Amino acid sequence: MATRTPLMSGNWKMHHNHFEALATVQKLSYLLGGRDEDLGVEVSIHPPFTDLRTLQTAIEQDDMPIALGAQHCHWEEKGAFTGEVAPAMLAKLNVAYVICGHSERREIFGETDEWVNRKVLAILANGMTPIMCCGETLDEREAGGTDEKVAGQVRAGLAGVSPEQVGGLVVAYEPIWAIGTGRTATPEDAQATCAVVRATVAEVAGAEAAERVRIQYGGSVKPANAAELMAQPDIDGALVGGASLDADDFAQVVRFR
Ligand code: PGA
Repeated sequence: MATRTPLMSGNWKMHHNHFEALATVQKLSYLLGGRDEDLGVEVSIHPPFTDLRTLQTAIEQDDMPIALGAQHCHWEEKGAFTGEVAPAMLAKLNVAYVICGHSERREIFGETDEWVNRKVLAILANGMTPIMCCGETLDEREAGGTDEKVAGQVRAGLAGVSPEQVGGLVVAYEPIWAIGTGRTATPEDAQATCAVVRATVAEVAGAEAAERVRIQYGGSVKPANAAELMAQPDIDGALVGGASLDADDFAQVVRFR
């Protein structure tokens, strides 16, 4: 089996101004032991756009063991898109990972599978790594539609992406009913759906890409449940919302071992 380095990502959503962001990453970097300690995982922080430049400077100047991430972008290179940010603008700030297709963007802002696919392609074209989200609602789960929903989102999101690129990206499985609710999927349920994600990647991009692709679980991950989730064979990290806002909590999640 390929050894996949887990990726622990903090999705701050619309929290922390740039002062709060700076204080949080400084403390997090300290708690993670700087670059001297081999944590065996990669860490990324996804702050609001207004914090990116501040965090880029801090991370680079202090050589923090944290990769810079974004929560969203447009797929176009430039143009009359009021309020949007282009992938190249993120790449210029040394953003490494960009979340796309988060259920909040899909549900509140009407993002479609097709838009998510365009974003995945644009993020890759700009040398960054997409964290492409998928997940089912509670109604879909109760109706037995989880596998179909998630597989459909993965197929649509990865359309036209080369097998080589698919192997390098990250898919986050986030059951919508578990996001911000304190209700986590059981490790067995999370594993079962992450295995469906991997099987779908194998179907669209081949066995090698499926072996390499990293699959995160997201939805109420916290210090108390990180270890049992990360112990699952098809879970290669976590996308963490609420528990990433506090440096102590997130450091504990990162150090799940
Ligand atoms: P949560 O959010 O950890 O607060 O449930 C996860 C996410 O939406 O990425």
